[in-house]
Amino acid sequence: MTTPTESAQKASLSTLAELLPFLKPYGRQFLLAGIALIVAACATLAVPYAFKQMIDLGFGGNGIKSAAHIDLYFLALFGVATVLAIATAARFYMVSWLGERVTADIRSAVYAHVVTQSPQFFETTQSGEVLSRLTTDTTLIQSVVGTSISMALRNVLLFGGGMVMLFITSVKLSAIILLALLVVVLPIVFFGRRVRKLSRDSQDRIADASAMASEILNAMPTVQAFTHEKIESNRFTSMIESAFGTAMRRIRARSLLTMIAIVLVFGAIVFVLWLGAHAVIKGTMTGGELGQFILYAAIVAGSIGALSEVLGEAQRAAGATERLLELLAEESPIQSPAVPKALPQQAQNGATLELKNLVFHYPSRPLSPALSQLSLNIRAGETVAVVGPSGAGKTTLFQMLLRLYDPQQGQILLDGVDITELDLHVLRNAIGIVPQDTVIFSANAMENIRYGRAGATDAEVIEAARLAAAHEFIERLPEGYQSFLGERGVRLSGGQRQRIAIARALLKNPPLLLLDEATSALDAESERLVQSALEAAMVGRTTLVIAHRLATVKRVDRIVVMEHGQIVEIGTHAELVAKNGLYASLAALQFGVHG
Ligand code: ADP
Repeated sequence: MTTPTESAQKASLSTLAELLPFLKPYGRQFLLAGIALIVAACATLAVPYAFKQMIDLGFGGNGIKSAAHIDLYFLALFGVATVLAIATAARFYMVSWLGERVTADIRSAVYAHVVTQSPQFFETTQSGEVLSRLTTDTTLIQSVVGTSISMALRNVLLFGGGMVMLFITSVKLSAIILLALLVVVLPIVFFGRRVRKLSRDSQDRIADASAMASEILNAMPTVQAFTHEKIESNRFTSMIESAFGTAMRRIRARSLLTMIAIVLVFGAIVFVLWLGAHAVIKGTMTGGELGQFILYAAIVAGSIGALSEVLGEAQRAAGATERLLELLAEESPIQSPAVPKALPQQAQNGATLELKNLVFHYPSRPLSPALSQLSLNIRAGETVAVVGPSGAGKTTLFQMLLRLYDPQQGQILLDGVDITELDLHVLRNAIGIVPQDTVIFSANAMENIRYGRAGATDAEVIEAARLAAAHEFIERLPEGYQSFLGERGVRLSGGQRQRIAIARALLKNPPLLLLDEATSALDAESERLVQSALEAAMVGRTTLVIAHRLATVKRVDRIVVMEHGQIVEIGTHAELVAKNGLYASLAALQFGVHG
């Protein structure tokens, strides 16, 4: 990512042009908003002229005609106001609609893009930061699309039209006003730059703070166990204060900008009016003309003031847009191939798997390989246990199979097809995983199991739950399958969570099953239920299990022993115990087996 300061210099208003693809589908609405805008601006510009006619012809003093004129001009004035009211309401409606619509689209697009990112992205980007971009940054864009664009257009029209009418009214006075305006533009440009940079800084501060807050909120039990509440809230406060400081610098710069703009503009107008008043006294100008001139000058001054505000807003939004576009431009290193291959017709008893010379190191640790020169062939229907000390690379191996990361060297073949040649969804749909720590979503039991396959019927879900030995305990929950689980619902025990995970995997019915056994001990009853659920799950498919239990390793076809990212021994439990190598010592420690 670029540094904030550098990119803030470049995040000029032209960044906003990159929002165009999001505006494109709504051309018709923009056109309608534009028409309403132009009508409203014309009506505004007509008011001073109607005013002048009223003063000069209505109050102009030549007796009989005036009463009729007054009626007419008052009627016309009211007509203009009515048009103005309708056009303004229409503009407000259209433009607000566009703002909300486009923001909703951007939010969805960014979210849809973020959820396709590989784990690598989430290692370097905190989820709180992404959330802040989805909320704070998109709100800024909403203000631009929803109000600033229309404000800008309206005021450019008013400024242009007002200037033309000023010159028509009095060339000399207008020339003087124009000169004064040129003097006003310089400080606006100068401070505008400063505001733009400060705005991005302040958004960055907020994103930092929310990233930190979300991390801490996810770790509340730890925070409280270590009595870090005070420390954490102080840390958050100091970040918020720093954001406040940056925001204050921006606000000071903008206050100054507003003050200078108003003083200069009104100074110029008062001066010109003073000249105009003398012209009326001398008789070179009528009272109506001066009135008209005053009103046009007020419109022009108002439009300049509004434009400077809008410019500030737009600059903040340019910073926000830039940050969102950075997110959207983030390309996941793990992609489906352009022309994916199909998996061959599925064999009856699961998939075959070939790992050829895998070499992998995590992007954050280029020097220490997590897997080195790892090769392994697994037959269809085989059950293989992977064991080894912590850090041996067992979990990494699973991540390779799911293509959460790609190896730097080597190949993985699923049913003879290189997994990088498969569509990512085809690959991942062929794999069921039962992780060590099951994520339970805030939804009912039915939906939590249905996560395994979105289209599954209730009957299929219940069937999977039965096979996974989860049906009985779910039935006993207060509302059965409708019971709410997760953070705001029923808390499940470790064994129950695992059986939910197994039910999910069974529902998917994948040819390849990856099990990561829980390290924490279960009570005897849960242990028995989980084991029987796993046995059911392994039938008719190839299974790879990271094993921590004697019951599991005794039952598998082969045991693969890993250390330092390599396979050091392969065999059955009995063979490996007899060999008296790494497995034998691990087994003695982990399973209490003494060879
Ligand atoms: P195991 O599952 O056998 O305990 P892992 O596959 O989790 O081992 O880890 C293998 C090695 O890779 C370890 O040295 C670990 O520190 C490292 N590692 C695991 N995950 C990451 C990661 N996301 N980023 C960097 N290094 C990692």
